[in-house]
Amino acid sequence: MDGRIEQVHQSPDVYKIEVPFENISTSATNCYVVKDGDDALVVDTGAPTDEGAAVLSAALDELAVDRDRAKWFLTHLHMDHAGLVDQVVPDGGFLLIGANEVAAVRASRTGMFLETLRRLYRRQGVPLASLSVAARLGIEVQMFDPARLRTLLLHDGDTVTVGRWEFKVVETPGHTPGHLSLVHPESRILFGGDHALFVISPSIALFADGQDGLQTYFDSMQKVQNLGISQLYHSHGPIRDGFEERFTWLVEHHEARLAEAEGIIARIPHLTGYKIIRTLKWNVPFDEWDDIPIMQRWCILTQGIVYLNHLVATDRIAAKDYGDGVLLYESVQ
Ligand SMILES: [Zn+2]
Repeated sequence: MDGRIEQVHQSPDVYKIEVPFENISTSATNCYVVKDGDDALVVDTGAPTDEGAAVLSAALDELAVDRDRAKWFLTHLHMDHAGLVDQVVPDGGFLLIGANEVAAVRASRTGMFLETLRRLYRRQGVPLASLSVAARLGIEVQMFDPARLRTLLLHDGDTVTVGRWEFKVVETPGHTPGHLSLVHPESRILFGGDHALFVISPSIALFADGQDGLQTYFDSMQKVQNLGISQLYHSHGPIRDGFEERFTWLVEHHEARLAEAEGIIARIPHLTGYKIIRTLKWNVPFDEWDDIPIMQRWCILTQGIVYLNHLVATDRIAAKDYGDGVLLYESVQ
């Protein structure tokens, strides 16, 4: 069997395929195939590169996946998960995606959303020059031609069958607004997408409607912990034991960042979000803010705003607008 295919579970039979994709934090997306007889479920596809398409196609052939008959499940619509749909899913293919994820992506394709996003960054004091770049990068989510496919929109608790196996859909919003996981209740294995990873702390979505994205993520984390799963099949990096400890670590990691932001605000009141975020220690190999590549800077800004929103929503800090439309932060006594 090709080195990129590995059987990781039996009954249900699960195969992991590493679809190559180089970026700053990972070298591949783990896609999974569940097989039972002639039925197959493919979990995620990988990033849209020629090499990735070749690797995934070869793996599906080797596993004798009947692509017309298979179900194609996407945990979320980031391009390193949904990017190969048009290359590997045949016309009329049976695509399964979160209803909330589709709604969020559709909303992000309107001019109004762009305006909301611009306003949101402006409120944090982000300089105008960065704004249009940020807004443009922010809406670059990979989509595909949905008219070509039979698409089923999924909700929490829906069932996805593969041969004799029944999986349950678990909505795990946070990393994206409509992120899904898939659990097999009997064996308690869970396909968790980017909800929890070992190689990095997954980014948290900035919800355009003002929802507290970090709290949403924490709630999803608790929800998955309550499932009592036996094995986490995540989307990047080697499969490892100790996912429960990792869940705890991820929450603590965010808590430490929140405390750091709180500390800055206590020490230096009335800073803009932009200044606070630049003062926080981020895990990047650059000393100067301006040396950080624009894409990464945008990610940092977004995460910083997610933290500030959470601190405000949980009454740990206050945000005040003194009349110019820009928020200044202060401690809550
Ligand atoms: Zn993702």
